[in-house]
Amino acid sequence: MSEKRYYQEEIETMPVEALRELQKEKLLKQVRHVYDNVPYYRAKMEELGVTPDDIKELEDLSKLPFLSKTDLRDAYPYGLLGMPLSECVRIHSTSGTTGKRVVAFYTQKDVDLWEDCCARAIVAVGGSKEDVCQVCYGYGLFTGGSGLHGGSHKVGCLTLPMSSGNTERQIQFMMDLNATILCCTPSYAAYLGESLKEAGYKPEDNRLKAGIFGAEPWTEEMRRDIEASLGIKAYDIYGLTETSGPGVAFECEEQTGMHINEDHFLAEIIDPDTGEVLPEGSKGELVFTALDKEAFPLLRYRTKDICVLSRKKCSCGRTHVKMSKPMGRSDDMMIIRGVNVFPSQIEAVLLKEGYPPNYYIEVDRVNNSDTLDVFVELTAEQFEDTVGKFSARENALAEAIKTMVGVKPKVHLVNPKSIARSEGKAVRIVDKRKLH
Ligand code: ADP
Ligand code: ZN
Repeated sequence: MSEKRYYQEEIETMPVEALRELQKEKLLKQVRHVYDNVPYYRAKMEELGVTPDDIKELEDLSKLPFLSKTDLRDAYPYGLLGMPLSECVRIHSTSGTTGKRVVAFYTQKDVDLWEDCCARAIVAVGGSKEDVCQVCYGYGLFTGGSGLHGGSHKVGCLTLPMSSGNTERQIQFMMDLNATILCCTPSYAAYLGESLKEAGYKPEDNRLKAGIFGAEPWTEEMRRDIEASLGIKAYDIYGLTETSGPGVAFECEEQTGMHINEDHFLAEIIDPDTGEVLPEGSKGELVFTALDKEAFPLLRYRTKDICVLSRKKCSCGRTHVKMSKPMGRSDDMMIIRGVNVFPSQIEAVLLKEGYPPNYYIEVDRVNNSDTLDVFVELTAEQFEDTVGKFSARENALAEAIKTMVGVKPKVHLVNPKSIARSEGKAVRIVDKRKLH
């Protein structure tokens, strides 16, 4: 491990008081910038009767209107631009997990600060110029590839810009070029682990030491699985296109939540139903105000991600607030016969019961009643000794899921390798109710 523990030590370990002061200064400036340059948002402020002069303290943030994905779609493509297009150097787009894509713009300064955030994440997992960083997030419109790529350059790692897919080549380069840090979605990391095993490699055969995995929800069980199959420490990273991309928050060596880069992003937790700001430690929807972004300066953007913030002292020395793993998006939550169910809860049960993280969930409505079907792959070993015991196994798993989530699904165990693997974000839910 390198000597350097932080990429930007002064900022990352800044006393909380000073950090709040810095946030306040930036907020006041940013509100003015948005009011002056983004008519769409100014109109929203005017509707509430708020002007930049009303924002004097951090606490005044709650006077500002929220922005949501609907606003981004309504204002598509240029309505939320804060700079002339001639000052912008890049466009990215969301992966469109939950509907129509939105686009985000970047000035060179925006790209620079975003890459700093990703560099912080890489140094936090022990990255230095001695490392070979294999980036297999998708490149292109998706933010994953470019973000980690830029961060890797800033740290001085030897960067392998693989992009997603072509697993055989990923493995060949990983082994031949001694990759030490792997960046991809957790579902693809799990798949790489599985593929390495099939190719006859043991976890200790590769030189990887750490992985930076994000862009989709994953459980602690999945973390342990990936760590074992690749012989690494697996770290979480979080972000969204609307706030630049990955690197809004990242995990440190404690692996107990992700430090939010608070000098750039002001975080709030709100009640998703009422919009009320909740006290620290409450579970609710994460809302971000970008303090430095020029081209796409979103104020109070509702992420729909449900999580908890904690300012408990972290052993790594960083002072920035930590967010828990998002337990799913509020729009990922399935309501099955009146019960709230997140895919992550089901995933946790599967892994605990020894199944691989290869599954999908199908929801439908038959005779006015919701149905929940969970399709789960068997491992090759399970497949061998399951002959004749399928229904007993399926039933046991259905019971275990019921204990956890309160709804009993119908479980379908399927042959090894029969569920399509994802190279980017995994598709976990098929909601057929929306099709009727
Ligand atoms: P889309 O909304 O189309 O998926 P993005 O690619 O910008 O667009 O994805 C951002 C979303 O991905 C976040 O709002 C969050 O729901 C999810 N996400 C990103 N990182 C993580 C993570 N580490 N854990 C869980 N969810 C994550
Ligand atoms: Zn820490």
